[in-house]
Amino acid sequence: MKTVSIIVPCYNEEEVIQKFYQAILALWQDASLRDLYTPELVFVDDGSGDQTAALIREIASGDERVRYTSFSRNFGKEAAIFCGLRQATGEAVIVMDADLQHPPAAIPEMLKKWEEGYEIVEGVKSSRGKETRSHGLFAGLFYRMISKVIGFDMSGSSDFKLLGRKAVDALNALQEKETFFRALSFWIGFKSASVSYEVAERAGGHSKWSTRSLTRYAIRNITSFTYAPLRIIGAVGILMLLVGLGLGIDAIISYVHGKAIGGYPSLVILITLSTGGILLSLGIIAVYIAKMYTELKNRPRYIVDDQK
Ligand code: UDP
Ligand code: MG
Repeated sequence: MKTVSIIVPCYNEEEVIQKFYQAILALWQDASLRDLYTPELVFVDDGSGDQTAALIREIASGDERVRYTSFSRNFGKEAAIFCGLRQATGEAVIVMDADLQHPPAAIPEMLKKWEEGYEIVEGVKSSRGKETRSHGLFAGLFYRMISKVIGFDMSGSSDFKLLGRKAVDALNALQEKETFFRALSFWIGFKSASVSYEVAERAGGHSKWSTRSLTRYAIRNITSFTYAPLRIIGAVGILMLLVGLGLGIDAIISYVHGKAIGGYPSLVILITLSTGGILLSLGIIAVYIAKMYTELKNRPRYIVDDQK
C-alpha cells in the first residue's frame, strides 16, 4: 500500500470542509483506489476566523488518516501549501483547494500518470470557470508574462497538482520565503504530465481574492522569477540619454544659426516625463530591495498554533 497525501489549504472554509472530506471518502470507496493507496489528509488552516479549525479538529479526532496544522493567523495560501508539503509523508502528494473547485474525480487519472513514471502531474484548467471579464484579461496577461519568463506555457495552470516524493523533497529544500508554488513546480524540473479538468463552482462560501490582492500576487511572482523590469529600466535610461543628446545637439545648432530656442512647453514635458520615469524606476527597484529585505529577515513563513 502506498500513501497518498492530500494537502488542503483552508481559509474560512467552514461551509465546505465537511463536504470536501465526504467527497474524498466517497472517492476512496472505489476499489481501484482503496486497494492500492492509503489516503493521508493534511489540512492546513490558514488562520481562519470562522469554525474551520474546529471542524478540522473534529474530523481529525475521528479519523487517524487526517492530520492538520492551524496557523496563528492568516499567512496566505502559499505558506499553507508549503507547510502541507513539509507535513505530508506520502509517496505521492496532491495539493487541492478545499472548495471542491478542483474535482476529486481527477485524482485517479493523476495517480495513473504518476504510476507511469511522471514525477509531477499538473492539473490544467480546460476552462477558467466563472470569472469577471477584467479578471480574465488580467490573468491572461499575467500568465503570458510569467510563461515567457519560465519558458513553460502556464496558461490554465493552477495549484491543483500531484507531486512525487522527489519533487516534494526538492520543493522542501528551497530556502526562499517568497514562493510561487505554481511556477516553482515547473522550475524544479522532473518529468511532468498534465491532466485537464473543468473548474467546478465553489461548493459554498466565496473566493478570498480581491483585485488588490491579485495585483500584489502578480507583482510578487513576476519579480520572483525575472529581473526583466530592472533591465527595462536600464534600457529606458539609455533611450532617454539618446533623446537628451539629440535635443542638446539640436539646441547647439539652433544657437549657432542665431535662432532662439523655443522652450517652455518642451521643458515642462521633459521634466514631468523624466521625473515620472525616475520615480517609476525607483519603485521597481524598491520592490526588489523589499524582497531582499524579506529574505534577509529570515522570519518563519508561518507560525503554528496547533498541530496533529
Ligand atoms: N486559501 C488559503 N489562504 C488564503 C486564501 C485562500 O489557504 O489566504 C485557500 C482557500 O481556503 C482555498 C484555496 O486557497 O482552499 C483557494 O482559494 P479561493 O477559492 O478563495 O481562490 P480561487 O479558487 O477563487 O482562486
Ligand atoms: Mg476556489
